[in-house]
Amino acid sequence: MGAKGNPVCLRRIFSESHTSEGMNVVKTVAIVGGGAGGTLLANRLARRLAREIEDHEVQLLLFANREVHVYEPGFLFVVTGEHEIEHYTRPQKSLVRRGVRLLMEEVQRIDVERKQLRTARNTYSYDILVLATGARPDFDLVPGMREGAHNFYTVEGSLRLRDALANFEKGRILIVQDLPLKCPVAPIEIFFIIDAYLRSQGRRQNVELIYSHPSPQLHHEPGIAEFIAKRFAARGYTFLPEVRVVEVDPQKRVVRTEKGETHEYDLLIAIPKHRGAPVIEASGLGDTLGFLPTDRYTLKLAGRDDVYVIGDATNIPISKAGSAAHYQAESLVNNIVHRLRGLPETARYDGKLACFLVSDLHESSFIGCDYNTPPRPIPSTELLYWFKGMYNEMYWLTARGLL
Ligand SMILES: Cc1cc2nc3c(=O)[nH]c(=O)nc-3n(C[C@H](O)[C@H](O)[C@H](O)COP(=O)(O)OP(=O)(O)OC[C@H]3O[C@@H](n4cnc5c(N)ncnc54)[C@H](O)[C@@H]3O)c2cc1C
Repeated sequence: MGAKGNPVCLRRIFSESHTSEGMNVVKTVAIVGGGAGGTLLANRLARRLAREIEDHEVQLLLFANREVHVYEPGFLFVVTGEHEIEHYTRPQKSLVRRGVRLLMEEVQRIDVERKQLRTARNTYSYDILVLATGARPDFDLVPGMREGAHNFYTVEGSLRLRDALANFEKGRILIVQDLPLKCPVAPIEIFFIIDAYLRSQGRRQNVELIYSHPSPQLHHEPGIAEFIAKRFAARGYTFLPEVRVVEVDPQKRVVRTEKGETHEYDLLIAIPKHRGAPVIEASGLGDTLGFLPTDRYTLKLAGRDDVYVIGDATNIPISKAGSAAHYQAESLVNNIVHRLRGLPETARYDGKLACFLVSDLHESSFIGCDYNTPPRPIPSTELLYWFKGMYNEMYWLTARGLL
């Protein structure tokens, strides 16, 4: 073993990083998207490839189009005023460790044939590409929704909803959602949180709080539906099944559903169907909703050996969640490092994800699942809520690749 590491690996990198003329060729790993998955992956790769980066054998590029990194699960606690939005945001550049070249540039076109990324400023070549471009709620898909509805899936949305709830004394709050959406338990969490918040302030008796779902059940995952159903039965909550909103009339304060029903509201909270990032659609890489056809085990883009996908951008049939991106990063780091070192890519993503389900102002459940284990929430406790709070604080260590 030499001072710098394993001699076998060194020889492999050395041979790969020289052309026939003996010129040094740097291998470029490009990551598009500086959200939860892309930032974590870049930082972890930088740690594992520290020596190769130092020796200019590998360069790591991270393309980010937002100066501010947002921890989205924090929106739930902004809505009740428990924390300010600043608690859940950090400058993107403060999260990126040495060894990662952060490019604050929006990628406009991905050319997987030429292995190039185009931005407004430049065209970049890559050897290995990771797409971490996420998913976004499409508020323009339903006429009237952008003007007529509140949401808690964006910074602006959660601040506006916080202010609306702070002044809401009586009337009907209706929660609607469509699939696919990221964190598919968040709409039921906001229902439980708003219920508890209004109760804690003595304002619940004049408020009718209604939860709906596009499926006939309280949730499309049977185990989660069963968990929610027990609470609904015990507390007499109101549920509207098969509500897929096709139009919002902000003047009349009415939603119209696919089945032709109408439902009135005084305050509407709507989470629409999500889509992939515009660049995926513009580059012709996604399915009809702009999600990337991805191998569920290797996380490679279909038909591409040199392109990987992480997080919400995939079309893998699991919940779109930051924790999924976290576990995916573990196998991607191993496979990318192995690949650069000329070793076989042995890691497989097993569909693992874990998330909390907040069920009161001071209680949470927890859900763990993978490809072979369907999600089944465990009973809510105060201790789990405390763990949720802990994780919210520790997220910044996760993003920096330290956890
Ligand atoms: C209210 C709420 C609660 C949630 N709660 C939980 C929870 O409890 N547990 C959990 O695990 N998950 C939760 N999530 C989901 C979690 O936040 C997401 O699943 C996670 O952020 C996905 O990470 P990602 O990297 O795939 O996408 P993102 O974090 O969305 O990052 C994608 C990034 O790519 C950037 N990008 C897109 N296109 C380009 C381009 N062309 N060029 C450059 N950059 C680009 C975007 O701007 C964005 O910064 C919650 C989400 C919400 C909204």
